[in-house]
Amino acid sequence: MTIPRLPDSTTRWRCTRCGNLTRFDVRRDQVAHEFWHFDLSGEPVIEERNLASDAVQEVKCRWCGVGAVVELIARTVVE
Ligand SMILES: [Zn+2]
Repeated sequence: MTIPRLPDSTTRWRCTRCGNLTRFDVRRDQVAHEFWHFDLSGEPVIEERNLASDAVQEVKCRWCGVGAVVELIARTVVE
């Protein structure tokens, strides 16, 4: 299975089977360093989060599921 790269400001994902552009299930493995700040009641707030690694493992079309190929395409300008 080919794993598409993450989209950036000029690209997006597209399902080659149904043409879906907007709904995907993504599985990614991330390692993060976080700063947790607890208030006196014990409620935490994560005030800093830095990703040490971020690897996409799988991108599936929300409608077609397994088997469909998701590709990276250029965004078109909507006017
Ligand atoms: Zn699809």
